[in-house]
Amino acid sequence: MRKIQEIGPIKIIFGKFPVYPYCNTLLIKNARTLLVDPACEEKALRAEVAKEKIDFLFNTHYHPDHIRFNNLFDGVEFLAHKEDAPCFRSLDSMAEWVGVKGTEYEKAWRASMVEFFGFRERSKITEVEDGTTLNLGKITIRFMHLPGHTPGHTGFFIPELKILFLADMELSATGPWYHNQRASIEQIILSVEKIRKMPADYYIPSHGQEIFTGNIGPRLDRYLENIYSREEKILQTLAVPHTLDELTSLSLISGFKLPRNQVWFLFERNMVRKHLDRLLAQRKVSRVGGKYQRED
Ligand SMILES: [Zn+2]
Repeated sequence: MRKIQEIGPIKIIFGKFPVYPYCNTLLIKNARTLLVDPACEEKALRAEVAKEKIDFLFNTHYHPDHIRFNNLFDGVEFLAHKEDAPCFRSLDSMAEWVGVKGTEYEKAWRASMVEFFGFRERSKITEVEDGTTLNLGKITIRFMHLPGHTPGHTGFFIPELKILFLADMELSATGPWYHNQRASIEQIILSVEKIRKMPADYYIPSHGQEIFTGNIGPRLDRYLENIYSREEKILQTLAVPHTLDELTSLSLISGFKLPRNQVWFLFERNMVRKHLDRLLAQRKVSRVGGKYQRED
């Protein structure tokens, strides 16, 4: 049995362990019913959700651990942010945005998206953007664009209940993640500040077993601190010159020790490269040939 928590008309079905590839699913029942990211676990979805009449299906972004069981809800009106919509329309676009296109990882990645995650290209998408509202009856979903993790990554605010759904701005000790080619550290920092301004009483993340209440400030600060401490770790390591691949092999960000032939090696490399770009722009690091070195 999955852990379930209810706040008014919102049912939160917490994702199965290990965290990947599952996420927390939201079922919001009002005059009309909204289902968000059906990827908590197939059994729980069949038990808790399949019997409901769902009016809208919303994916916060295109990642496989959020879209995994979409196919159980075929025919339901599908919503996603307009900036992530190309990845729902075409696996080719997703390959490019993720960063696997044209790499040694592409073939295996495509096969797992289709066979394991059940990805199917969609032609009908109701596109939302920052501030788009969806009236469910007595409550309103106000979509909130929180870009950076992906370009169209989107949560929402429910003003009547002061609930903010954070999606993958999950404020965990191990995040944030900017492992896709089109991810952006700068956008994530801006999204954190956008969350800070919201007058919410409840903050629901897409991962983890906890709903946050009270002052969210210290948690946001820690999340940002994770970014800066990763950057500092890279800078310290570059006292000795390293290539991008050498830095990637150290797993300074994800901490996973993964062989080069696995796609998470590419994801770690994407994250390291984003930090190197920032450090180069700040002139804290220089590049000679293929090696990066700290500037003293
Ligand atoms: Zn994600």
